[in-house]
Amino acid sequence: MEQTEKVLVLRVGRFRETDMWVSYLSPSQGVTRAFAFGGSRSRRRFVGCLDALNLVIFTHDTTVKAHQGKKLLEGSLVHGFPGLRANRNALAAAGHCLKFVEAVQIGPQGSRKAFDLTLSTLYGLEDQTLAPAAAPLLFKTRTTYDHGYAPEIGECISCGLPLDQIPEPWFLVDKGRVACPNCRPTDSPLFKTSAGALRTLDWIGRSDPKDWPRLAIKPDIHQQCGQVLDAYVAWHFGLVWEDGWFRKN
Ligand SMILES: [Zn+2]
Repeated sequence: MEQTEKVLVLRVGRFRETDMWVSYLSPSQGVTRAFAFGGSRSRRRFVGCLDALNLVIFTHDTTVKAHQGKKLLEGSLVHGFPGLRANRNALAAAGHCLKFVEAVQIGPQGSRKAFDLTLSTLYGLEDQTLAPAAAPLLFKTRTTYDHGYAPEIGECISCGLPLDQIPEPWFLVDKGRVACPNCRPTDSPLFKTSAGALRTLDWIGRSDPKDWPRLAIKPDIHQQCGQVLDAYVAWHFGLVWEDGWFRKN
């Protein structure tokens, strides 16, 4: 039996002399790894497919047992994002997003949403409606929210003071909550941020990518959003960006 699906290639590698492994994002299975036996030689069966950032239709053999891994039979290229590849900053931003998808290990649950979000981001980078400097923050924030990790930042965790009335809110990394200076706990990893940054993150987390182009984030707010998100991702996903890769804590 054979099955076909349109997927996005995240990473490829070679093993043995002529065989390749492929990590890809599937709208039904999430991040998946499969083997393309003879893939490095048999360019005919995988014409232009076996490269990161390719949207492809893969056919895989469903008779192979799960523990043996998926076996790809052939592939055809749908879109290789040539416009995106031609722009160095856009390509770097796309690479960051794809590595995040792989590191978060998106499973079958929520895979359709993750697939659509990833493609929207890549098309936005390609048609230049999405700025490369903003894309990773927007993408990682939405992905974090989509995975059920939305922080609750509306009010102080202790006294309930609304965020708008807290001039210098503290972000509690482990709880994903905020505290006013008076209620700031001593037993939680936390740091001072701004209500503007927290509100911006919350907007991004609940936004649709088609609304991203109209969001203009000031540099200081962007930096604070990044600080909150990075600390939060490190705590909850155990992921830290280092030397061009996400390292598991
Ligand atoms: Zn308080």
